[in-house]
Amino acid sequence: MATARPRSIPEARIEPWRDPHASPLIRIANLIKQYGDVYAVDNISLDIFRGEFFALLGPSGCGKSTLLRMLAGFETPTSGRLELDGADLTAMPPWRRAVNMMFQSYAVFPHMTVEQNIAFGLKREGLPAAEIRERVGQAMEFLQLQPMARRRPDQISGGQRQRVALARALVKRPKVLLLDEPLGALDKKLREKAQFELVNIQETLGVTFVIVTHDQEEAMTVASRIAIMNEGRIVQVGTPAEIYELPGSRFVADFIGDVNMIEGRVDEIGERGMTIDSPQAGCTLRTDRTAAAATGQTVWAAIRPEKLRIDKEPPADRSANCVSGTVWDIAYLGDVSVYHIRLESGHVLRATAANRRRLVERPISWEEQVWLSWDADAAVVLKS
Ligand code: ADP
Repeated sequence: MATARPRSIPEARIEPWRDPHASPLIRIANLIKQYGDVYAVDNISLDIFRGEFFALLGPSGCGKSTLLRMLAGFETPTSGRLELDGADLTAMPPWRRAVNMMFQSYAVFPHMTVEQNIAFGLKREGLPAAEIRERVGQAMEFLQLQPMARRRPDQISGGQRQRVALARALVKRPKVLLLDEPLGALDKKLREKAQFELVNIQETLGVTFVIVTHDQEEAMTVASRIAIMNEGRIVQVGTPAEIYELPGSRFVADFIGDVNMIEGRVDEIGERGMTIDSPQAGCTLRTDRTAAAATGQTVWAAIRPEKLRIDKEPPADRSANCVSGTVWDIAYLGDVSVYHIRLESGHVLRATAANRRRLVERPISWEEQVWLSWDADAAVVLKS
C-alpha cells in the first residue's frame, strides 16, 4: 500500500474546532442506530463546523453510511440527537432539511439532458421557471458543464457525469452537502483529479461537505478533518496530519498509511521520554514522547517507513533505536524504494528511501545485511 501524505492545511486556515466558543453547524449527540442486535452507529457524538470538508473514514460495515443517512433524514435514529445550526433535525423530514446528498455519479437520470438533470430538484420544489433557469445556468457555468447542457449522461465522460451529480445537489443551495463515496465510479486517475476539483469547489462555495469514504488517501487529500470509525464508533477525530503523525491506537495507525508496529514493554519512564525493551526489535527503543503507561506494560511503537534510515554500515551510536537485519524484499517505485528488512526475531520492518543516490552508490540488494535506525521523535507509543 502506498503511503498517503496528509493534506497540507494552510497556516492561515481557520480551524473552528480549536475555538471553544465556536458553535458547530452540525451537532451529533449520543447518536445510536440499531438494526436488531447490530449497533450500526453506537453512541456517536461529534461536532462539525461551517465550511469544513469533513470525512467519515473506516472499513466497510463500520457505520459510515448509516450515520450519513441519518444526517440526510433517510434513517431515523434509535436514540440521540442531531442538530443543524441549533435546530433539532431528529424528527425533521429529509426535504425540510437544508442538507442535500450527492449520490454516486451513475445516479443521474439517463433519459434527461444534463440541464434537465440539474433542474430536476428545483422543478419538483415548484420554483419559478426564471429562477430555475438562472440557478441551473450558474451551476453549469461554475462546473463547466455549459458545452454539454443538451447532452444525455451517456454522451459525456465519467468525470463530467460526476460533476452533473454534484451540480444537481449544489443547485439547491444546501447548508450541508453529504457525499457518499462520490467518486466510487471513477477510475484511479480521474478520481484523483476529481478529488482536487471537489476541494476547489468546496473552498470556493464555502458549503460544508461531509464525505463518506473507505479510501484513506481520498480522505487525506480532501478533508479538513477526518473521523476514523470502527464498529459503529468514532475512534479518533483530527486533521489529516494529526491522524497521520499522532494516531491514538494501532487500528488508526494501521488504517492510515503504512506503519511499522514494534511490540515491547515499558522499561523506564522519565520526564523527557521513555525507554521500551523490545525482544521483537532486538534493541532498546528510546522515544522522546511519553505515554501514560506503567513500567512493564505492553506497548507498541508505531514508526512510519519513511522515518527509518537504512544503512549498509553500522551507525556510530547503536545504544538504542538501531537494529540490523537482512533485506528480504525490495519494491522499486521509481522515486522511492521500499525495503522489507527481516530482523533476527523474524519480525519484518519496512523502510522507504529516496532513490537519488542511485548512480553514486552501489544499491542495496536482496539478502544483504543492513542497519535500520531512527530518531527519538520518530515513534508514537500506543497502548492499544
Ligand atoms: P459502512 O457504510 O461503513 O460500510 P453501514 O453503515 O452501511 O457501513 O453499515 C453498518 C452496519 O449496519 C453493518 O453491519 C450493516 O450490515 C448494518 N446495516 C446497515 N443497514 C442495515 C439495514 N437496513 N438493516 C440491517 N442492518 C443494516
